[in-house]
Amino acid sequence: MAALVWRCVCGGVLDVAAFPAGPTGPAGSPGSAVLEPAVLAGRAATMWRYGEVLPVAFDPGISLGEGMTPLVDSGTLPGVRLKLDFLMPTLSFKDRGAVVLATLAARLGVASALVDSSGNAGTAAAAYFARAGIPCRVLVPAATSPAKLAQMRAHGASVTLVPGSRADTAAAAVAAAAEPGVMYASHVFHPYFAHGVKTYGYEIWEQYGRTLPDTVVVPVGNGTLVLGCHLAFSELVAAGLAPRMPVIVAVQAAGCAPLARAVERGADIPVGVDAGTTVAEGIAIAAPPRGEQILRAVRATGGTVVAVPDQEIAAARTELAARGVFVEPTAAVCWAAVRAARTATGQTRGPAEAAARTALTAPEVVVPLCGAGLKSPAPGAA
Ligand SMILES: *Cc1c(COP(=O)(O)O)cnc(C)c1O
Repeated sequence: MAALVWRCVCGGVLDVAAFPAGPTGPAGSPGSAVLEPAVLAGRAATMWRYGEVLPVAFDPGISLGEGMTPLVDSGTLPGVRLKLDFLMPTLSFKDRGAVVLATLAARLGVASALVDSSGNAGTAAAAYFARAGIPCRVLVPAATSPAKLAQMRAHGASVTLVPGSRADTAAAAVAAAAEPGVMYASHVFHPYFAHGVKTYGYEIWEQYGRTLPDTVVVPVGNGTLVLGCHLAFSELVAAGLAPRMPVIVAVQAAGCAPLARAVERGADIPVGVDAGTTVAEGIAIAAPPRGEQILRAVRATGGTVVAVPDQEIAAARTELAARGVFVEPTAAVCWAAVRAARTATGQTRGPAEAAARTALTAPEVVVPLCGAGLKSPAPGAA
């Protein structure tokens, strides 16, 4: 079935052409008219309020009311706001893409779905494919947090633990995806996933009063949130609904930072790194398949990619929890980066760090908190 194709015959990644369906012209054109304040005002506070720019139609039997998560003041760093995407139905931002893929799968009538994940994408797929009544198999690295495994199994997914690294899991999934009738609902490869995730950017735009902040900080492993943000902001600017894109600062864990290394070296593709170890399991991706695209997207906004060490990630997690927000280590990397930039004294170590410091100290900065604390071992227990 051609509809189940998930990558190019050349092995490269696919994107959706000629999208969005909605805001394609300048302000006042038929496209942007659909996102007029009066139209949006009457809609439910979910990601489906932007239905015209999504590649599938809302399915009330599959949706869990996901999206329009709170954007709250950080309370400690002036101008820094926190977007609480850990409050999504399966407790991570992956629900934004998973609901779109499950909705598509139901429409196509696929027999079963397969995903691979470091945890949260698999959990989101398990939940939404269960809603769609489609059996779902999830491949995860054997070391995945027990709480994430419990969540997937509770949703009825068949969970396969793959020995070795995250890359070994991805390779096993690619092999299994070749079985007939299986939809490989990969958050990395499937081009619809990022179109669901882009609602994160549309929400920020609406929550800022139909404008965009100076800087949007994003954790990056496989880059679905970076690419989703880039899609949203470019569509909004192209539609005349925002004057300019925010700067995107992407953040990696120093233990596994192929994209941050690429920026340091001025390279167009990710630098080869060892799988490494980091407490930020959700972004430990040594060779992201969309790496080149991620680097292009970040640079197109004038942004950069930085890396933060594990001690700073752990400290950021503790600090956030002490202020009432309990997130998993992966979800604390952006807060760690902003904190470091705002408390830094002295010279920066190079142009990438200088660009990051400028962007992260700008007047309006959005930090995502996109995975719940209960998904991973308690601080100090790992
Ligand atoms: C998936 C995930 C990320 C990283 O997203 P990528 O698409 O791999 O860049 C970051 N934080 C959390 C909590 C996640 O679940």
